[in-house]
Amino acid sequence: MGSAVSKILSRPEGFEDLGKEEICRLLLSEGADKELLFSCADRIREHHVGNEVHLRGIIEFSNHCIKNCFYCGLRRDNDAAERYRMTADEIADAAVAGAQAGLKTIVLQSGEDPFFTADMLARLIARLKDEHDVAITMSVGDRTREEYALMRDAGADRYLLKHETADPEAFSRLRPGTTLDGRIRHLVWLKELGFQVGSGCMIGLPGQTADTLADDILLLKRLDVEMAGFGPFIPHGDTPLASCTGGDVDMTLKTLAVARIMLPFTHFPATTALGTIDPEGRQRALKCGANVVMPNITPVRYKKLYEIYPNKICINEEGSIQCLPCITGIIRQSGRSVATDHGHSRKPVHGKARPQG
Ligand code: SAH
Ligand code: SF4
Repeated sequence: MGSAVSKILSRPEGFEDLGKEEICRLLLSEGADKELLFSCADRIREHHVGNEVHLRGIIEFSNHCIKNCFYCGLRRDNDAAERYRMTADEIADAAVAGAQAGLKTIVLQSGEDPFFTADMLARLIARLKDEHDVAITMSVGDRTREEYALMRDAGADRYLLKHETADPEAFSRLRPGTTLDGRIRHLVWLKELGFQVGSGCMIGLPGQTADTLADDILLLKRLDVEMAGFGPFIPHGDTPLASCTGGDVDMTLKTLAVARIMLPFTHFPATTALGTIDPEGRQRALKCGANVVMPNITPVRYKKLYEIYPNKICINEEGSIQCLPCITGIIRQSGRSVATDHGHSRKPVHGKARPQG
């Protein structure tokens, strides 16, 4: 007699329509059942998106933020944070170094910083797209639909906006002045505007249960995202959640694995946050469904200051020169290869897998 988990994982009809109860069972699996889940996710990853790992070089160009998220070290009320903004030229230089090192996607991320108007961002996007053969992902938080449209029209390909938690009460408590419905509305706008959309959530936020994590996965499924990131919540000493317990490696990996089997064509990063709480975290994620890694190519003098959470890995290495060889090594040691294309969505369009490119 197989376990309940092994029964779920041997469903002939596949896993795309798993219900909440089944998801919870998988999230709570331990021992041999958990290993079965991981190997199932690994197999599905290989079958649907192959052995290549996509690199997305991230530039953290401003740590100013008008929001006050309880979990984040960049929150407005954290007076201990030393703030910086990179100039357009500094951002372009970092992007060029990344492109010359072979990166095919550049992610521009910041706190919510109105200093960077949508016009400024659009000019920057157009400049990078004009000069380099790269995909551009924006990750600058909540903006108006018109501002998103300006970025899209300027050539941005993707947008990363995590839903953070699908529990509406927790969302409003942890992100004062905002609602889960509002965040979802932003994600829908981004889809309508033609962005490939990345979302995701933190694992181990206070009050989170397997039940709410199942809602997180179901929301990602409903939004049909092109990418989803799962990072453990890591408490930051200068925030209201300083004394909370953070997320754990196993639950992060299980969430990733369940999401992979339910969204087989979606891109999933082996997150830096997971690599921060476990030196083997990213390697383990690559074996549980992940197919993306995001090297940090922010200039060293700034990346130390982008302290969303403490003890972030790789903050003393110059990104394109030092992080890239290291990450390439991790990928090869995991028996995988580094993708050389843009890593656009592989989700089927009209029933067919998208061509690579
Ligand atoms: N300001 C933008 C993008 C930067 S924040 C935004 O909020 O969308 C990038 C991500 O960092 C957030 O989406 C959140 O999931 C993550 N994050 C913030 N604080 C964290 C913490 N303490 N531990 C782990 N991840 C955190
Ligand atoms: Fe600002 Fe993003 Fe941090 Fe929230 S998570 S405080 S929006 S940087």
